[in-house]
Amino acid sequence: MRTPLIAGNWKMNGSAELVRQFGQHFAQTALPDALDITIIPPFPYLQAARQAFDGTRLDLGAQTLNPEDSGAHTGEVNGKMLKEFDVSYVLVGHSERRQLDGETDDHVGERTLAAFNFGLTPVLCVGETLEERDAGDTMQVVLRQVAHVMERLEPAQRHKVVIAYEPVWAIGTGRTASPEQAQEVMAGIRVDQAGYDRQLAEKLRLLYGGSMNASNAAELLAQPDIDGGLVGGASLKVDDFYAICQSAG
Ligand code: PEP
Repeated sequence: MRTPLIAGNWKMNGSAELVRQFGQHFAQTALPDALDITIIPPFPYLQAARQAFDGTRLDLGAQTLNPEDSGAHTGEVNGKMLKEFDVSYVLVGHSERRQLDGETDDHVGERTLAAFNFGLTPVLCVGETLEERDAGDTMQVVLRQVAHVMERLEPAQRHKVVIAYEPVWAIGTGRTASPEQAQEVMAGIRVDQAGYDRQLAEKLRLLYGGSMNASNAAELLAQPDIDGGLVGGASLKVDDFYAICQSAG
């Protein structure tokens, strides 16, 4: 019922050569029919990726956007520009931006609205730090991050948001949440949203992110509330990412 989504976040990695490799490799068709796949490269590769991915199953995503329409924001990119490159998805609230660039829940809310204004699908990243988990605050933190954004949206926008649960302690550390840990939090998000709107909650796509790789993906993706993955490090190796996509069938 919910089409799985596998998204590869290249962060500040990749190259024109990697773009070419992905275009070539994903021209193969041995992938599940009901599966959305997106690559989220750094901005400078969007145009080359658009061309290299033509005729493949790969969509394009962006790593962030500025909420303003235009203006004196050196180094920033807005949703209109992303749309010109046929970008479908945009990450909002990635923990690296929350931590390194000081993005607050308010900023994340603004960016989510801006994504919708330009016809982009926001992938809202939420997750607790190790300290928050150890203090028993995981659910409270995650539901606060989700609620802060969902409360600002129109009902029609809410079911289009993709939510990526990414425990901060699992990102780029090689330490994956167990399938049970991930399922528990993600079921909690869905139950919480069902409290507002049952149908919306059934439609919400929830991704797990945090050291997902070709060896652990199948077990994570088999959990009932995990509808896909947001993959960092393993999305830089075309064979590994392809294998993750195959295990999402
Ligand atoms: C991410 O950056 O969203 C991520 C999940 O990274 P990694 O897979 O490397 O942990």
